[in-house]
Amino acid sequence: VKTCEVALPLPWIHPLREVVKHANDLLLVRYQKKLSSSVSAQSCFLSTYGGTSHVSLDDVFTEVQLELHHSSSGVHQPLDLEDVVGSVGTVNKDADTVLVSGEAGSGKSTLLQRLHLLWAQRAALRDFVLLFPFSCRGLNLEHRELCVQELLFQHCCWPDREQEEIFQFILDHPHLILFTFDGLDELKEGFVDELRVCCPTQRAPVHVLLFNLIQGTQLKGVMKVVTSRPGAVGPGLKKHLRKEVLLKGFSPSGIDCFVRKHHSDSAVAAKVLESLQANTALLGLCHSPVLCWIVSQCHKELLSCGEGSPQTVTDVYLMILQHFFQHHSTSKGTTGAGWLQEHLRTVLHLGQLASEGITSSCCVFSGADLETCGITEKDVCMGFLVQSKDVSPGNSKRYEFLHVTMQCFFAALYIVLSGDTDCSTVPKLFELQDVTETGLSSTCLRACLPSADQQGGHLEEHTTAAEAPNLQITATFVSGLLSQRHKRSWQRCCSKAAVERKVRQVTRCLSKGMQKHFRSIPRPVPGEKKSMHAMPGFVWLIKCIYEMQESRIAKDAMSKLEVDHLKLTYCNIGPMECTALAYVLQHIKSPVGLQLDNNSVGDVGVEQLLPCVHVCNSLYLRNNNITDEGIRRLTAKVVHCDNFQKIALFNNRLTDASTLHISHLLKAKQSFLSLRLGNNNITAEGAKRLAEGLRRNHSLKFLGLWGNKIGDAGAEAIAGALENSKSLVWLSLVGNGVGNAGARALSGIVRNSLSLEELWLTQNCITRAGVEYLIQALKHNTHMKSVWLKNNDLSSEEVEEVKLIEPRLIF
Ligand code: ADP
Repeated sequence: VKTCEVALPLPWIHPLREVVKHANDLLLVRYQKKLSSSVSAQSCFLSTYGGTSHVSLDDVFTEVQLELHHSSSGVHQPLDLEDVVGSVGTVNKDADTVLVSGEAGSGKSTLLQRLHLLWAQRAALRDFVLLFPFSCRGLNLEHRELCVQELLFQHCCWPDREQEEIFQFILDHPHLILFTFDGLDELKEGFVDELRVCCPTQRAPVHVLLFNLIQGTQLKGVMKVVTSRPGAVGPGLKKHLRKEVLLKGFSPSGIDCFVRKHHSDSAVAAKVLESLQANTALLGLCHSPVLCWIVSQCHKELLSCGEGSPQTVTDVYLMILQHFFQHHSTSKGTTGAGWLQEHLRTVLHLGQLASEGITSSCCVFSGADLETCGITEKDVCMGFLVQSKDVSPGNSKRYEFLHVTMQCFFAALYIVLSGDTDCSTVPKLFELQDVTETGLSSTCLRACLPSADQQGGHLEEHTTAAEAPNLQITATFVSGLLSQRHKRSWQRCCSKAAVERKVRQVTRCLSKGMQKHFRSIPRPVPGEKKSMHAMPGFVWLIKCIYEMQESRIAKDAMSKLEVDHLKLTYCNIGPMECTALAYVLQHIKSPVGLQLDNNSVGDVGVEQLLPCVHVCNSLYLRNNNITDEGIRRLTAKVVHCDNFQKIALFNNRLTDASTLHISHLLKAKQSFLSLRLGNNNITAEGAKRLAEGLRRNHSLKFLGLWGNKIGDAGAEAIAGALENSKSLVWLSLVGNGVGNAGARALSGIVRNSLSLEELWLTQNCITRAGVEYLIQALKHNTHMKSVWLKNNDLSSEEVEEVKLIEPRLIF
């Protein structure tokens, strides 16, 4: 390889020299250079900083949490950036499209930007000779029909010479090419896979080309990475996916790292982090990179606000609003809401542009659009609008809000502050959420925003998959802006009566929305518990109630909720949603089982849930990235909660350290029924500590330790502690490296226990001799139903033999 490196004038593509031979080497190298310098120029700065300063992506990029979608079953490992295009988690080998999905502000565009830059710097993705980045926002501006070659060269990088040869290279070597499409949810047309365009020279609308590329009817073999918000990808597209990667924002250490990178002054960084630790609701919000960025950007405001430190997403956006305005304020030191009065005109004009954009699925605006809304150069200078990177075909300047959530925030400000909006705007915005869940458009809202009628047709009448989430985000901000603590500020800027009317409308909509969800709860099957499986809209309503900070609505809503079990699995619940959930659920009348499996609760989320754990009789937190620290905080609280009886913590990041806290819980709570700790990192040491608690507990019925590493020593400790248990019904030590010594110890429970019905020892290393202990013990036990022993160290003859001796041994 070394000699090739020296000999070839193609430093980048030398590993692929057998491929390159067929193309015109120099030509390709030249094009590659041009493409990579264009990609580098586009990706080296972060656009959110455009209004204030140029920040290099290399300086602030912070690792984000990437997970595989659960369709990649069985793979539970943290992913790094290159795994996005790597083979890990592949569910469909025939497909070439990887979807990266995440909520607005979770860092999708930045992640792609990072991949682009690393490729251009030759620091990653070196297997790809050419990388073509697209933004769906930009593609929306392309109204011509194009063929694939034109799409690549006109939208990404124009080859100075020999286009045909370069395109032929792409056709011949698709596996050396990478395309990225950012923001598929913003594409004006929804995905369909019926329109086939197979020929690379055939022209078609760009969205049709895009769909054909994703499906692989065009340029099969080219790897595509597509980003989108989660709700926007339907089953039609899912079947063309190689895999789906979920973007979960920053981890707690990511927040720390980001804040330190953002502030060159380490003392400031330390103060910001300290204030986040003191306000865990805000810390929860900072898992979202866009919020973390705002909080860091507004560190002065943050550090000076003391007790009144932001709690809600609306508080955080108001902080940046104030930050930008005060930067440009004529009267420095304007206190209270004075800054808003001073800049009200700007707010309303930007708000009008934002809300028109939201109702017509438009995020990129022309100079004429700005003019129509009365936006001046001075307004633009405030920094909320930045120049779009997506150049329109006419090359005229285009603008977009710093981030789509900022656009939603301005739309919400407009709805709250403008006297022009129709009386039905607020109810329509909230009612629409029910409609949008079934996929209908927002035409009715459009009709209620009179300014939208005067657009002169420049904003198109399309709806995109991003529209429903944008309306939801806007409605959440409307709730926040109308909260008790903010509404007084608006009364100086608009009619008090109008604000009060909007407050009543939101209150009514939220109550009605909650009741609608409750009415949809199916009647329980006789003998079974009444269970509610929350729909995404339910979590959104809860977040709106939290933003409004109206415990009255929460109390009222919860007084009508009659369920035994509340299921919120796979609902994208992170720390910030936990804060909102606890705010509302703490008012539930009778104890419930709260099932939060397969979310991203984490330790910060656990802490946020504490205010509502007293209403939980069981808490299911499987697969939630919780560590020993989360368990320490949780057990310290639940030990005092009379109702609390069951916990499931399967597949988290627990080690022996957490068994100390759990053991304490077992000792203290003599009503505790079920403890499931499967698939963590508990060893014999942890099992020994757990045994201390088990020995002193007289209520536990179910104990699951599947997939840990307790070994014989751990099994002996557990068996010793439970030998005389009168409560234990079910015990699982599956996959724990338990051998004959463990089996021998466990036979003690089998012999003595009057309560145990099932013992699970599948996937261990017990031999025939170990099974003998169990056979002998079972002779003394008539009520025990089964001992599961599949996948141990027995030959098939031995299995047949012992099954005949003891039919309760199950293989
Ligand atoms: P999305 O595309 O999911 O809406 P973005 O990528 O636009 O989110 O992120 C919003 C903002 O959050 C970015 O402009 C940047 O300021 C910040 N951000 C996102 N991801 C990162 C990251 N990995 N490192 C540093 N900052 C980030």
